[in-house]
Amino acid sequence: MNEPVLTIVVPCYNEEEVLPETIRQLRELREQLVGERLISENSTLLFVDDGSRDATWTIIYKASLRYPEVKGVKLARNAGHQNALLAGLFSAKTRSDCIVSIDADLQDDISVIREFIKKFHEGYEIVYGVRNKRDTDTFFKRHTAQGFYRLMKAMGVHLVYNHADYRLMSRRAVEELERFEEANLFLRGIVPLLGFRSTVVYYERKERLAGETKYPLKKMISFALDGITSFSITPIRLISLMGFISFFVSLLFGAYFLFLKWTGHTQTGWTSLITSIWLLGGLQLIAFGLIGEYIGKIYKETKRRPRYIVDLDLFNLPMPLSFLADEPKAVEQSTKR
Ligand code: UDP
Ligand code: MG
Repeated sequence: MNEPVLTIVVPCYNEEEVLPETIRQLRELREQLVGERLISENSTLLFVDDGSRDATWTIIYKASLRYPEVKGVKLARNAGHQNALLAGLFSAKTRSDCIVSIDADLQDDISVIREFIKKFHEGYEIVYGVRNKRDTDTFFKRHTAQGFYRLMKAMGVHLVYNHADYRLMSRRAVEELERFEEANLFLRGIVPLLGFRSTVVYYERKERLAGETKYPLKKMISFALDGITSFSITPIRLISLMGFISFFVSLLFGAYFLFLKWTGHTQTGWTSLITSIWLLGGLQLIAFGLIGEYIGKIYKETKRRPRYIVDLDLFNLPMPLSFLADEPKAVEQSTKR
Protein backbone atom coordinates (compact mmCIF):
# COMPACT_ATOMS: atom_id res chain seq x y z
CA MET A 1 0.00 0.00 0.00
CA ASN A 2 1.20 3.53 -0.75
CA GLU A 3 1.65 5.79 2.25
CA PRO A 4 -1.35 8.08 2.73
CA VAL A 5 -1.10 11.78 1.98
CA LEU A 6 -1.66 13.69 5.21
CA THR A 7 -2.60 17.35 5.50
CA ILE A 8 -2.34 19.06 8.87
CA VAL A 9 -4.82 21.93 9.03
CA VAL A 10 -4.07 24.76 11.45
CA PRO A 11 -6.50 27.66 11.94
CA CYS A 12 -4.62 30.83 12.94
CA TYR A 13 -6.00 34.08 14.27
CA ASN A 14 -3.45 36.69 15.33
CA GLU A 15 -0.86 34.04 16.07
CA GLU A 16 2.33 35.86 15.00
CA GLU A 17 3.99 35.15 18.35
CA VAL A 18 3.65 31.40 18.22
CA LEU A 19 3.46 30.66 14.50
CA PRO A 20 7.16 30.49 13.56
CA GLU A 21 7.70 27.89 16.29
CA THR A 22 4.54 26.00 15.29
CA ILE A 23 5.70 25.85 11.68
CA ARG A 24 9.12 24.62 12.77
CA GLN A 25 7.78 21.87 15.02
CA LEU A 26 5.16 20.66 12.58
CA ARG A 27 7.67 20.55 9.72
CA GLU A 28 9.99 18.52 11.89
CA LEU A 29 7.21 16.09 12.75
CA ARG A 30 6.18 15.78 9.12
CA GLU A 31 9.77 15.01 8.22
CA GLN A 32 9.92 12.26 10.86
CA LEU A 33 6.63 10.71 9.80
CA VAL A 34 7.74 10.66 6.18
CA GLY A 35 11.00 9.07 7.31
CA GLU A 36 9.08 6.40 9.22
CA ARG A 37 7.09 5.72 6.04
CA LEU A 38 3.85 6.44 7.88
CA ILE A 39 2.83 9.20 5.48
CA SER A 40 3.57 10.10 1.89
CA GLU A 41 6.17 12.73 1.09
CA ASN A 42 3.41 14.70 -0.60
CA SER A 43 1.97 15.42 2.83
CA THR A 44 1.59 19.11 3.68
CA LEU A 45 0.86 21.61 6.42
CA LEU A 46 -2.04 23.93 5.68
CA PHE A 47 -2.32 27.14 7.68
CA VAL A 48 -5.61 29.02 7.50
CA ASP A 49 -5.32 32.70 8.27
CA ASP A 50 -8.66 33.66 9.79
CA GLY A 51 -8.51 37.37 8.93
CA SER A 52 -5.70 38.14 11.36
CA ARG A 53 -4.74 41.75 12.02
CA ASP A 54 -1.10 41.03 12.74
CA ALA A 55 1.71 39.51 10.68
CA THR A 56 0.20 36.00 10.68
CA TRP A 57 -0.40 35.88 6.94
CA THR A 58 3.01 37.31 6.08
CA ILE A 59 4.60 34.55 8.15
CA ILE A 60 2.52 31.85 6.47
CA TYR A 61 3.14 33.26 3.03
CA LYS A 62 6.89 33.56 3.48
CA ALA A 63 7.10 30.05 4.89
CA SER A 64 5.17 28.74 1.91
CA LEU A 65 7.66 30.36 -0.47
CA ARG A 66 10.51 28.77 1.40
CA TYR A 67 9.18 25.30 2.14
CA PRO A 68 7.19 23.42 -0.48
CA GLU A 69 5.31 21.46 2.21
CA VAL A 70 3.90 24.61 3.81
CA LYS A 71 0.65 25.91 2.30
CA GLY A 72 -1.72 28.67 3.27
CA VAL A 73 -5.30 29.75 2.81
CA LYS A 74 -6.23 33.31 3.58
CA LEU A 75 -9.78 34.12 4.56
CA ALA A 76 -11.03 37.54 3.53
CA ARG A 77 -12.19 38.33 7.05
CA ASN A 78 -12.42 36.75 10.49
CA ALA A 79 -14.90 33.88 10.28
CA GLY A 80 -14.28 32.28 13.68
CA HIS A 81 -12.39 29.19 14.72
CA GLN A 82 -14.94 26.62 13.50
CA ASN A 83 -15.35 28.22 10.09
CA ALA A 84 -11.61 28.70 9.63
CA LEU A 85 -11.21 25.03 10.38
CA LEU A 86 -13.87 24.11 7.83
CA ALA A 87 -12.22 26.29 5.21
CA GLY A 88 -9.01 24.37 5.82
CA LEU A 89 -10.65 20.94 5.75
CA PHE A 90 -12.52 21.60 2.53
CA SER A 91 -9.49 23.08 0.82
CA ALA A 92 -7.30 20.21 1.94
CA LYS A 93 -9.59 17.35 1.02
CA THR A 94 -8.88 17.60 -2.70
CA ARG A 95 -5.34 16.36 -2.22
CA SER A 96 -5.31 14.38 1.00
CA ASP A 97 -6.15 10.88 2.14
CA CYS A 98 -6.47 12.03 5.70
CA ILE A 99 -6.54 15.36 7.48
CA VAL A 100 -5.52 16.26 11.02
CA SER A 101 -6.78 19.51 12.56
CA ILE A 102 -4.85 21.16 15.37
CA ASP A 103 -4.74 24.61 17.02
CA ALA A 104 -1.88 26.96 16.23
CA ASP A 105 -0.84 27.37 19.86
CA LEU A 106 0.46 23.77 20.14
CA GLN A 107 -1.39 23.14 23.39
CA ASP A 108 -2.15 19.75 21.98
CA ASP A 109 0.79 17.38 21.95
CA ILE A 110 1.78 17.10 18.28
CA SER A 111 3.56 13.78 18.69
CA VAL A 112 0.10 12.22 19.09
CA ILE A 113 -0.39 12.74 15.36
CA ARG A 114 1.78 9.65 14.94
CA GLU A 115 -0.81 7.62 16.90
CA PHE A 116 -3.56 9.17 14.78
CA ILE A 117 -1.85 7.97 11.62
CA LYS A 118 -1.32 4.50 13.03
CA LYS A 119 -5.02 4.27 13.82
CA PHE A 120 -5.75 5.45 10.30
CA HIS A 121 -3.57 2.62 8.98
CA GLU A 122 -5.63 0.24 11.12
CA GLY A 123 -8.71 1.37 9.25
CA TYR A 124 -10.21 4.03 11.51
CA GLU A 125 -11.65 6.97 9.60
CA ILE A 126 -12.10 9.36 12.51
CA VAL A 127 -9.66 9.57 15.41
CA TYR A 128 -10.47 11.89 18.31
CA GLY A 129 -7.71 13.38 20.42
CA VAL A 130 -8.93 13.38 24.02
CA ARG A 131 -7.28 15.23 26.92
CA ASN A 132 -6.73 13.00 29.90
CA LYS A 133 -6.10 15.93 32.27
CA ARG A 134 -6.93 19.57 32.39
CA ASP A 135 -4.15 20.63 34.76
CA THR A 136 -2.82 23.35 32.54
CA ASP A 137 -6.14 25.10 32.02
CA THR A 138 -7.09 27.79 34.48
CA PHE A 139 -9.46 26.79 37.30
CA PHE A 140 -12.13 28.85 35.62
CA LYS A 141 -11.75 27.36 32.16
CA ARG A 142 -11.64 23.83 33.52
CA HIS A 143 -14.89 24.20 35.40
CA THR A 144 -16.77 26.09 32.73
CA ALA A 145 -15.70 23.54 30.15
CA GLN A 146 -16.69 20.60 32.32
CA GLY A 147 -20.04 22.20 33.10
CA PHE A 148 -20.55 22.59 29.38
CA TYR A 149 -20.00 18.90 28.63
CA ARG A 150 -22.38 17.91 31.44
CA LEU A 151 -25.02 20.32 30.24
CA MET A 152 -24.75 19.08 26.67
CA LYS A 153 -25.09 15.51 27.85
CA ALA A 154 -28.15 16.37 29.92
CA MET A 155 -29.69 17.86 26.79
CA GLY A 156 -29.10 14.73 24.80
CA VAL A 157 -26.20 15.93 22.65
CA HIS A 158 -23.48 13.35 22.36
CA LEU A 159 -20.04 14.87 22.44
CA VAL A 160 -16.76 13.08 22.90
CA TYR A 161 -15.84 14.09 26.44
CA ASN A 162 -12.80 16.40 26.69
CA HIS A 163 -12.23 16.36 22.97
CA ALA A 164 -11.60 19.71 21.32
CA ASP A 165 -10.97 20.08 17.64
CA TYR A 166 -7.83 17.94 17.60
CA ARG A 167 -8.70 14.99 15.39
CA LEU A 168 -7.96 13.01 12.26
CA MET A 169 -10.55 12.55 9.57
CA SER A 170 -10.34 10.51 6.41
CA ARG A 171 -11.03 12.21 3.12
CA ARG A 172 -14.35 10.40 2.88
CA ALA A 173 -15.41 11.70 6.30
CA VAL A 174 -14.58 15.28 5.29
CA GLU A 175 -16.52 14.85 2.06
CA GLU A 176 -19.55 13.70 4.03
CA LEU A 177 -19.06 16.59 6.46
CA GLU A 178 -19.37 18.97 3.55
CA ARG A 179 -22.92 17.78 3.00
CA PHE A 180 -23.98 19.29 6.32
CA GLU A 181 -24.93 22.67 4.97
CA GLU A 182 -26.08 24.37 8.14
CA ALA A 183 -24.66 27.81 8.80
CA ASN A 184 -24.15 27.15 12.52
CA LEU A 185 -21.87 24.20 12.21
CA PHE A 186 -20.75 22.94 15.59
CA LEU A 187 -18.05 20.50 14.57
CA ARG A 188 -17.72 18.63 17.85
CA GLY A 189 -21.38 17.72 17.69
CA ILE A 190 -21.51 16.96 13.97
CA VAL A 191 -18.47 14.74 13.57
CA PRO A 192 -19.86 11.95 15.81
CA LEU A 193 -23.01 12.06 13.68
CA LEU A 194 -21.00 11.02 10.62
CA GLY A 195 -20.73 7.49 11.92
CA PHE A 196 -17.73 5.78 10.30
CA ARG A 197 -15.31 3.70 12.26
CA SER A 198 -13.83 5.89 14.97
CA THR A 199 -11.60 5.70 18.02
CA VAL A 200 -9.93 7.95 20.58
CA VAL A 201 -6.31 8.64 21.48
CA TYR A 202 -5.44 10.17 24.88
CA TYR A 203 -2.88 12.92 25.41
CA GLU A 204 -1.90 15.62 27.87
CA ARG A 205 -2.75 19.19 27.10
CA LYS A 206 -0.07 21.79 27.63
CA GLU A 207 0.05 25.53 28.14
CA ARG A 208 -0.18 27.84 25.18
CA LEU A 209 3.34 28.24 23.72
CA ALA A 210 2.98 31.99 23.27
CA GLY A 211 0.36 34.64 22.73
CA GLU A 212 -2.95 34.67 24.54
CA THR A 213 -6.22 32.81 24.23
CA LYS A 214 -8.53 33.85 21.40
CA TYR A 215 -11.47 32.51 23.37
CA PRO A 216 -12.36 35.12 25.97
CA LEU A 217 -15.41 34.50 28.16
CA LYS A 218 -17.77 36.22 25.73
CA LYS A 219 -16.79 33.95 22.87
CA MET A 220 -16.93 30.89 25.14
CA ILE A 221 -20.49 31.67 26.16
CA SER A 222 -21.63 32.25 22.61
CA PHE A 223 -19.87 29.03 21.53
CA ALA A 224 -21.67 27.06 24.26
CA LEU A 225 -25.03 28.65 23.42
CA ASP A 226 -24.52 27.89 19.74
CA GLY A 227 -23.64 24.33 20.57
CA ILE A 228 -26.76 23.83 22.63
CA THR A 229 -29.26 25.56 20.40
CA SER A 230 -27.90 23.99 17.23
CA PHE A 231 -28.37 20.52 18.57
CA SER A 232 -31.20 20.36 20.96
CA ILE A 233 -34.72 21.60 21.40
CA THR A 234 -34.70 20.60 25.07
CA PRO A 235 -34.62 24.28 26.19
CA ILE A 236 -37.88 24.95 24.33
CA ARG A 237 -39.43 21.84 25.91
CA LEU A 238 -38.27 23.02 29.34
CA ILE A 239 -40.03 26.32 28.77
CA SER A 240 -43.30 24.60 27.95
CA LEU A 241 -42.85 22.46 31.04
CA MET A 242 -42.30 25.56 33.15
CA GLY A 243 -45.41 27.06 31.60
CA PHE A 244 -47.47 24.02 32.63
CA ILE A 245 -46.09 24.00 36.12
CA SER A 246 -46.81 27.67 36.69
CA PHE A 247 -50.29 27.12 35.31
CA PHE A 248 -51.02 24.46 37.92
CA VAL A 249 -49.41 26.52 40.65
CA SER A 250 -51.63 29.45 39.76
CA LEU A 251 -54.68 27.14 39.96
CA LEU A 252 -53.65 26.22 43.49
CA PHE A 253 -53.06 29.87 44.32
CA GLY A 254 -56.48 30.71 42.90
CA ALA A 255 -58.14 28.23 45.24
CA TYR A 256 -56.16 29.66 48.13
CA PHE A 257 -57.19 33.23 47.28
CA LEU A 258 -60.84 32.20 47.12
CA PHE A 259 -60.49 30.59 50.51
CA LEU A 260 -58.98 33.83 51.91
CA LYS A 261 -61.83 35.83 50.38
CA TRP A 262 -64.47 33.61 51.99
CA THR A 263 -62.81 33.86 55.37
CA GLY A 264 -62.59 37.68 55.09
CA HIS A 265 -58.80 38.17 54.77
CA THR A 266 -58.67 39.68 51.30
CA GLN A 267 -56.09 42.36 51.98
CA THR A 268 -53.40 39.80 52.56
CA GLY A 269 -53.71 38.93 48.86
CA TRP A 270 -51.37 41.74 47.87
CA THR A 271 -48.18 39.79 48.59
CA SER A 272 -49.11 36.80 46.49
CA LEU A 273 -50.33 39.08 43.71
CA ILE A 274 -47.11 40.97 43.47
CA THR A 275 -44.99 37.84 43.64
CA SER A 276 -46.93 36.13 40.91
CA ILE A 277 -46.62 39.20 38.68
CA TRP A 278 -42.88 39.09 39.04
CA LEU A 279 -42.72 35.33 38.67
CA LEU A 280 -44.81 35.18 35.55
CA GLY A 281 -43.14 38.23 34.07
CA GLY A 282 -39.79 36.55 34.55
CA LEU A 283 -40.93 33.28 33.07
CA GLN A 284 -42.34 35.04 30.05
CA LEU A 285 -39.16 36.95 29.46
CA ILE A 286 -37.09 33.77 29.62
CA ALA A 287 -39.48 32.12 27.22
CA PHE A 288 -39.32 34.98 24.75
CA GLY A 289 -35.55 35.06 24.96
CA LEU A 290 -35.24 31.38 24.25
CA ILE A 291 -37.69 31.34 21.42
CA GLY A 292 -35.91 34.37 20.02
CA GLU A 293 -32.68 32.38 20.13
CA TYR A 294 -34.17 29.67 17.91
CA ILE A 295 -35.81 32.15 15.57
CA GLY A 296 -32.43 33.81 15.24
CA LYS A 297 -31.03 30.45 14.20
CA ILE A 298 -33.74 29.98 11.59
CA TYR A 299 -33.13 33.49 10.34
CA LYS A 300 -29.45 32.78 9.87
CA GLU A 301 -30.05 29.44 8.19
CA THR A 302 -32.60 30.78 5.71
CA LYS A 303 -30.13 33.33 4.44
CA ARG A 304 -27.78 30.57 3.38
CA ARG A 305 -24.80 32.86 3.54
CA PRO A 306 -21.38 31.35 2.91
CA ARG A 307 -19.66 30.42 6.14
CA TYR A 308 -16.35 31.91 5.10
CA ILE A 309 -14.82 33.71 2.17
CA VAL A 310 -11.48 32.67 0.76
CA ASP A 311 -9.20 35.45 -0.35
CA LEU A 312 -6.30 33.31 -1.49
CA ASP A 313 -5.86 29.54 -1.56
CA LEU A 314 -2.23 28.54 -1.95
CA PHE A 315 -3.20 24.91 -1.46
CA ASN A 316 -5.13 24.59 -4.66
CA LEU A 317 -3.07 26.88 -6.86
CA PRO A 318 -3.11 25.90 -10.53
CA MET A 319 0.64 26.62 -10.75
CA PRO A 320 3.66 26.31 -8.52
CA LEU A 321 4.18 29.18 -6.09
CA SER A 322 7.42 30.31 -7.66
CA PHE A 323 5.41 31.77 -10.54
CA LEU A 324 4.22 34.50 -8.23
CA ALA A 325 7.08 36.99 -8.20
CA ASP A 326 5.80 39.36 -5.56
CA GLU A 327 3.58 38.89 -2.57
CA PRO A 328 0.00 39.39 -3.63
CA LYS A 329 -1.74 42.62 -2.66
CA ALA A 330 -3.81 40.88 -0.06
CA VAL A 331 -0.75 40.58 2.14
CA GLU A 332 -0.13 44.30 2.26
CA GLN A 333 -3.72 44.90 3.20
CA SER A 334 -3.67 42.47 6.05
CA THR A 335 -0.58 43.94 7.64
CA LYS A 336 -1.61 47.54 7.18
CA ARG A 337 -4.86 47.25 9.15
N1 UDP B 1 -8.88 30.89 16.13
C1 UDP B 1 -9.33 31.24 14.85
N2 UDP B 1 -10.29 32.21 14.72
C2 UDP B 1 -10.83 32.87 15.80
C3 UDP B 1 -10.38 32.48 17.10
C4 UDP B 1 -9.41 31.50 17.22
O1 UDP B 1 -8.89 30.68 13.85
O2 UDP B 1 -11.68 33.75 15.62
C5 UDP B 1 -7.86 29.83 16.26
C6 UDP B 1 -6.64 30.21 17.09
O3 UDP B 1 -5.66 30.85 16.30
C7 UDP B 1 -6.16 28.87 17.60
C8 UDP B 1 -7.45 28.08 17.74
O4 UDP B 1 -8.44 28.77 16.96
O5 UDP B 1 -5.35 28.19 16.65
C9 UDP B 1 -7.90 27.96 19.18
O6 UDP B 1 -7.89 29.20 19.83
P1 UDP B 1 -7.27 29.40 21.28
O7 UDP B 1 -6.04 28.56 21.43
O8 UDP B 1 -7.10 30.86 21.51
O9 UDP B 1 -8.44 28.82 22.19
P2 UDP B 1 -8.27 28.07 23.61
O10 UDP B 1 -7.25 26.99 23.41
O11 UDP B 1 -7.82 29.11 24.57
O12 UDP B 1 -9.64 27.54 23.86
MG1 MG C 1 -5.46 27.16 22.79
